Amino acid sequence: MTETEVIKISPEHFTEREKAELRRAGRILREGGLVAFPTETVYGLGGDALNPCSSRKIYAAKGRPSDNPLIVHIAEIADLGKIVSEIPGAALKLADAFWPGPLTMILPKSDLVPRETTGGLDTVAVRMPSHPVALALIREGGGYVAAPSANTSGKPSPTCAAFVAEDMDGRIDMIIDGDMPGIGLESTIVDLTVDPPQILRPGYITREMLERVLGEVSVDETILHSATECARAPKAPGMKYRHYAPAGELSIVRGESGKVAEYINLRVSKDRAEGEKVGVIGTEETLSCYRADVVKSVGSRRDEETIARRLYAILREFDDEQVTRIYSESFSEEGLGQAIMNRLLKAAGHHVIDLDTMGGEENDSNRK
Ligand code: AMP
Ligand code: MG
Repeated sequence: MTETEVIKISPEHFTEREKAELRRAGRILREGGLVAFPTETVYGLGGDALNPCSSRKIYAAKGRPSDNPLIVHIAEIADLGKIVSEIPGAALKLADAFWPGPLTMILPKSDLVPRETTGGLDTVAVRMPSHPVALALIREGGGYVAAPSANTSGKPSPTCAAFVAEDMDGRIDMIIDGDMPGIGLESTIVDLTVDPPQILRPGYITREMLERVLGEVSVDETILHSATECARAPKAPGMKYRHYAPAGELSIVRGESGKVAEYINLRVSKDRAEGEKVGVIGTEETLSCYRADVVKSVGSRRDEETIARRLYAILREFDDEQVTRIYSESFSEEGLGQAIMNRLLKAAGHHVIDLDTMGGEENDSNRK
């Protein structure tokens, strides 16, 4: 058991005290310790990316399988050259357009990066976050910070410091409590070692945004389909694991809005008669249509960014309420919707009830 210290840093303008705290947090990283910190996507669990012992500690703290590589966070574009063996023109174009920001690039690694950090791969994932606290910590910590999301493996990524503490208290040295991440879903991952570049994980930076800079970009088909449907594993090793899952059994219901509400209400009464505690994930626009034990709005359909920001918190809240079944509305798979649906489908183990094409039959072939 490690004593986990929590410090508060406001991202606006660092006071002298906050600067000193950040230097102390950086020292913890340089000495091989672990510090969780806010980024603009979700909270990260940081360790020195060039120290194999730190990476091993990250895997242990999260209970993460060691073949699931970590993203290395940098604070200066000039630092990229040290950890990759080659910088293709496409990487410079993307860095220019989207860094600092929620985009991770896969590139061939240099010898400086230990295989413990890359899960045994010859490639390395690199991102420059835009959150001021993250940038300051990376600089103080030596410039290269491996930071997966700061949750226990399999749980929703943390979007506030309290969620980090739920999972990491007693397992890491420090938690930096900054503000809530503005985005709420992990970074877009794009593989630049293939031609055309390929999106391995969708995020705030959409395919359309990448294509405006690079021309054609492909998408790993496993993003919106289960490995069983695609007959192959996702290319990002981490995407093959069960993820973001609430404790209750989550089903996504697809179809025309009125019918979805009618169907969910019917299922809720049936489940409750069987003794289940049932939750519903609705939206601002539809919330009043539902009758269940716990009904929550994930955001507004008129502003998908609100849905991205709240999705993980809502999944954790259902755990606190100890609901045993959850029904969720489904969202468009275009633009930011692709990232929202990717996370929701994984949280549901790809359990979808399609009212249009299947006459209400369930597609639970992928449910384990
Ligand atoms: P997280 O750290 O929780 O945001 O997860 C990082 C994601 O990046 C996981 O899905 C990893 O499998 C993926 N990833 C990291 N490094 C690589 C790499 N070199 N090649 C492919 N995917 C990677
Ligand atoms: Mg994660």
